[in-house]
Amino acid sequence: MSEQSVSPFAAALAKRQRAEQEQKEAEERKGQNFDFEELAYFPLEDGKEKVFRIVGNPVEVRSKQDDPILILQSQVVNEKKSGYVKINWDAIQKDGKLVPNPDWVLSRLYSKVNERDWKKYTDADLDDKKGIVKAEGKIVNADGKNGEWVYRHADTQIYKIVDGNAKKDEKYPKSFYPSKRVIMNVINRHDDWCKINNHTQILTSKLGVSEKKNDKTGEMIRSLFPDTGIPETLYKAIFEHFVKSRGDWDVDAVVTKKASDKKYEVWDATDAKYLSDLAKKLASENDLTKEELLYETYDLDKLFGVSSYSKLLKRLGYLFKLCDAELGTEFFKELEQLANKEAEERKAKNEEEKSEDDAEEKHNNEDVKEDVKETSSRARGVSKPSTDTSTEEKLVEYFKTVFPKWKDLPDSDKKILITNFDKVGSNGYPDFKMSSNPVQCSNADCKFEGSNVIPQTPDTISMCPVCGEVYPEQA
Ligand SMILES: [Zn+2]
Repeated sequence: MSEQSVSPFAAALAKRQRAEQEQKEAEERKGQNFDFEELAYFPLEDGKEKVFRIVGNPVEVRSKQDDPILILQSQVVNEKKSGYVKINWDAIQKDGKLVPNPDWVLSRLYSKVNERDWKKYTDADLDDKKGIVKAEGKIVNADGKNGEWVYRHADTQIYKIVDGNAKKDEKYPKSFYPSKRVIMNVINRHDDWCKINNHTQILTSKLGVSEKKNDKTGEMIRSLFPDTGIPETLYKAIFEHFVKSRGDWDVDAVVTKKASDKKYEVWDATDAKYLSDLAKKLASENDLTKEELLYETYDLDKLFGVSSYSKLLKRLGYLFKLCDAELGTEFFKELEQLANKEAEERKAKNEEEKSEDDAEEKHNNEDVKEDVKETSSRARGVSKPSTDTSTEEKLVEYFKTVFPKWKDLPDSDKKILITNFDKVGSNGYPDFKMSSNPVQCSNADCKFEGSNVIPQTPDTISMCPVCGEVYPEQA
């Protein structure tokens, strides 16, 4: 080995470090470019009638991913106390109510921190100022109770954080214990966003918007602060209105938020005498059109499912550590194991799942400023959110209604029709992509049922889905 030459190990090390650096940079680039699906919100606004159509079946009979979903969510202060992390709790039905699953690791931490004992008053507690007095030989407080709950860990840091759950300079703490929210897909009747994007929006009780200038580029950045869906109380009011008035919600809803008395007024398209002229004009009593039935919807399971263990670990790990240190529990280790197991299971599935989880992280994890950055394409309102699995099922449902011979088609033809579908034409019948070279049926009498419309389908299919004519094999 000559003296000038670098040792092969040093060279190897340098090469390795370079490779690692490149990998890291690539990871970062990937992170920045990650193009997650932006949610489009339909916000209620104070004092304004908002007209929309609910998509899907009620929470109580929920069976599809896009049916309205009831979740338990709380906002928990982050370690820096600069903002909150939205946590969707694992929940169970108990006595007809949705409550936190007592076995879930965060529920257990919450219960541990809030351990309490009933302490009966003694003479030593008598205190006129606090209203603890002796009456008829019994010591009672202003509420007539003969004692009070004493929190065992009231002096600990972890208790103070959980009980006082608030970021810096916050006036009122937020409840660590979760509240019930309902998230649903709706069709917005105030503009044509849904039509243009061929997609539903998410109903939210409030959508805050702030604008900030990017110091480097001078560009204005819009940030959205959406409430997670609507409070369960409003969902109940909507449900009860429709059940009483018609038995279903297959007409448009008209909801007005009355912030001053913390109420919502709920009407529907058929309640003409309670609606303004504008609302009357916007609200439809008609069934959804074929086009609307085919709108893509948000998969609410995916977007609003129970927060992952890795999220609890990453964002709230500090609470688990603090609890262990002060109360002698071993939650952090357990959480780490759960997160590892979860990561392995995810790996065993596929990469697709992984990116979905990233999307979930992005949506539900926006702590600090609690915002979701609005991309420029969203702002323009023209981007088409990514397709989800239920879309194909819906397309098939639609095909079944317009193609009497659908069930007789060979699978290869079905596939051609699905992949080359372009849009529902203005006549209500399917248009296929020009690239599939749509042609008329060789049966000159072939028309869509009950119409004069002549079907045009991709030229590679072997059988007409309308009349069942079998085409000769192409040379
Ligand atoms: Zn035909």
